[in-house]
Amino acid sequence: MSATVIDGKAFAAKVRGQVATHVTALKQDHGITPGLAVVLVGEDPASQVYVRSKGKMTVEVGMKSVEHKLDADTSEADLLALIQKLNDDAEIHGILVQLPLPDHLDEDLVINSIDPAKDVDGFHISNVGLLGTGQDSMVPCTPLGCLMMLRDHHGSLSGMDAVVIGRSNIVGKPMAQLLLGDSCTVTIAHSRTKDLAEVVRRADIVVAAVGRPQMVPGDWIKPGATVIDVGINRIDKPEGGTRLVGDVDYESCAAVAGAITPVPGGVGPMTIACLLANTVTACCRANGLPAPEGLTA
Ligand code: NAD
Repeated sequence: MSATVIDGKAFAAKVRGQVATHVTALKQDHGITPGLAVVLVGEDPASQVYVRSKGKMTVEVGMKSVEHKLDADTSEADLLALIQKLNDDAEIHGILVQLPLPDHLDEDLVINSIDPAKDVDGFHISNVGLLGTGQDSMVPCTPLGCLMMLRDHHGSLSGMDAVVIGRSNIVGKPMAQLLLGDSCTVTIAHSRTKDLAEVVRRADIVVAAVGRPQMVPGDWIKPGATVIDVGINRIDKPEGGTRLVGDVDYESCAAVAGAITPVPGGVGPMTIACLLANTVTACCRANGLPAPEGLTA
């Protein structure tokens, strides 16, 4: 194996340390404690795990954590009323509504009811527009984490050929916008892309966000390229039980790539770290203070 392994777990711990330093300064110098509210509707087990670990890490970096757990049959009106209350709460700087929502709730309507300045997931239509036009916005956490790792590894990304596989609103599209913002030449590939292998072979940077286990083989990777694997897929082990794998075939890609993120331990830990970073950013902006350097796009 030749590739440098980009250790997302260690990098995320460093980001959380930076967040904690900013939180301490906000408390000491301004008497402000950043606050994050997470809203969970229903009892999806994976969402419950995410919400628990978000709450735990929020407290660990010194911020205020508020959790609202609502019944699966909560009405849209009640959910919107809660969001309005959080929008109006001066002690809450970030609001995250855990997705997916139960079917009877309109996800777009709910997300767009969050105050864009508190939309720490970066999914509000205003933030999507601000990011697309290169203005200060709240940036979706997973692509922000990928960008931070790429910047840390390469310094400047200017002029690099980047291929993003996947065009979802939460990963693929914002990732492409961020890479464009850092002056990459960006291609977005997707399920209808012709000759995906050829497209990927051109890339200095490959970001795979598909949701298909080990879909990208090593012979698609340009020698020395950097591979960021966003995928989280659970597969059966031959000996029984299951394990997590990404969207790239790790062994064969690592043999060719210059650098690669593992799954688990790559992009995953960066997502929550960036949620905390976004909350501090939102808190600073709400109080007329500059956003912390290195923690934003
Ligand atoms: P999604 O299902 O919304 O989007 C998948 C995209 O992949 C689509 O745009 C589709 O066009 C594309 N696609 C599907 N089949 C393809 C194919 N054969 N060739 C090329 N493109 C194809 O998924 P998502 O929400 O963007 O998530 C993608 C993956 O990333 C999932 O595994 C998800 O679990 C993971 N994820 C991880 C994190 C994290 O924190 N690490 C966060 C979000 C998502």
